[in-house]
Amino acid sequence: MQQQNFDYDLLVIGGGSGGVRASRVAAGLGARVAVVESAQLGGTCVNVGCIPKKLLSHAAHFSQLADEARGYGWQMAQPQFDWPTLITNKDREIERLNGIYEGMLTGAGITVIRGHAALSGPHSVLVNGQSISARHILIAVGGTPHLPNIPGVEHAISSNEAFHLKQLPQRVVVVGGGYIAVEFASIFHGLGAQTTLLHRSQQLLRGFDADLGLHLAQEMAQQGMSFRWNEEIQSIDKQADGLHLQLKSGEQLVVDCVMYATGRVPHTEGLGLDVAGVHRTHKGAVEVDSRFTTNVPSIHAVGDVVDRMALTPVALAEGTVVAHHLFGKGGKHAPDYELIPTAVFSHPQIGTVGLSEKVARERFGAVQIFKSSFRPLTNRMGAEPENVFLKLIVSKADQRVRGVHMVGEGAGELMQGFAVALQCGATKQQFDATIGIHPTVAEELVTMREPVRE
Ligand code: FAD
Ligand code: NDP
Repeated sequence: MQQQNFDYDLLVIGGGSGGVRASRVAAGLGARVAVVESAQLGGTCVNVGCIPKKLLSHAAHFSQLADEARGYGWQMAQPQFDWPTLITNKDREIERLNGIYEGMLTGAGITVIRGHAALSGPHSVLVNGQSISARHILIAVGGTPHLPNIPGVEHAISSNEAFHLKQLPQRVVVVGGGYIAVEFASIFHGLGAQTTLLHRSQQLLRGFDADLGLHLAQEMAQQGMSFRWNEEIQSIDKQADGLHLQLKSGEQLVVDCVMYATGRVPHTEGLGLDVAGVHRTHKGAVEVDSRFTTNVPSIHAVGDVVDRMALTPVALAEGTVVAHHLFGKGGKHAPDYELIPTAVFSHPQIGTVGLSEKVARERFGAVQIFKSSFRPLTNRMGAEPENVFLKLIVSKADQRVRGVHMVGEGAGELMQGFAVALQCGATKQQFDATIGIHPTVAEELVTMREPVRE
């Protein structure tokens, strides 16, 4: 087929982080672009992910701040929290962002098509019964929550529904030990729900440096959250007084809400991957090469559906790479997945960049570990005896800093700068030569002199 016979140069399936970024860059490079979106523009991040989560997380933190404020002389009645106000205001902000996304796309000359898209061939897609052709197709359909198949699981919710609950549940069990579980357990607890985090092992945030999960669990327990370690729910039975949970240990719990945060899977159902002959990995993700092209040369994929690192900035970076590769002069490469900084918006927060101690030891053998934990100045006068935790990992032979990890408020903001340092290959001597900012928590990261172990 000749180029001019196609309806579009690029047809993007999914108007989320990766799809919108790839569309805008491609349109800027002169391509004729259409985006197909079956729900709201902005995708997971804007509608049921990063943005509303951060707003809820911020809301939850006020209870802790109110407790602290008393130690500083503020006198106030017990603050009352109103869930409907939070959700209404959050929805208004999300609607505003949906409009901005629509404006960004149409303003760039991109056609927005509403409906569910399914591949019907290497250059064609079916939307609302209509066939649309394109020289290139980009799959950017994201992921969707995965809930285990147990009796009564239909009474449980995922993070998607948590954003639209009519009222704040009084008693909540959050299942899982990953990003979403710890973030939502902190949200529910901070807003005043009696919260239990139930996890199948005893390690939070597997894959992160192990000290982060340990420290976070200690701080959450200190705040009054309950934990059920090495535990699973076998069945959920809905009764008049709540949801009756039968646990593997034999114990029973009665709660108002069970939220599963047990991972997300690529959102490929009904996408027509088999019709177009697109290969998948053993985990069901769309398989791509280093330029995000599938085994079908005209079909590409980015973001959560390729299951490399399910974070918005990663989907954005991948979308940029694919658009430049297809319509620009190339030259953009996939991000270095090992140096991607990330924050977990639990209370307290986690910020981290680089390697965990375990991976650094496997890779470099001899490593030096610097650690510090203390109660920061601003926590000393309030009710919350929260400690921060800081850790540096250095490869001994070349003295390069390989990992920077923190648990404590502001960790997300702070880690962005340290990510630049690691990207530049900073050494421990360069950290040591950097003057601290006093009095801050972050200054500790440039003043740790003695390794706790090698
Ligand atoms: P998405 O943003 O999911 O977009 C996919 C779009 O495709 C959706 O709009 C969907 O409706 C549409 N779609 C799907 N199938 C079809 C179809 N067949 N036809 C038409 N349209 C279709 N990341 C961070 O970096 N920071 C955070 O703080 C953070 N918090 C999160 C909190 C939660 C609760 C969740 C669930 C995720 C969070 N993430 C966070 C992850 C982040 O949201 C994702 O990594 C990111 O949105 C992935 O972008 P994407 O473009 O791959 O897919
Ligand atoms: P994660 O992969 O982070 O965590 C899933 C958790 O569920 C793990 O603790 C896992 O346990 C547990 N689990 C998995 N399957 C089962 C099961 N069948 N029964 C019981 N427990 C189970 O996924 P999330 O859903 O928390 O988040 C998905 C992704 O979204 C994240 O990986 C992240 O990339 C992104 N995200 C990013 C955020 C941010 O940037 N702040 C916030 C939220 C999400 P085990 O450890 O034993 O495997």
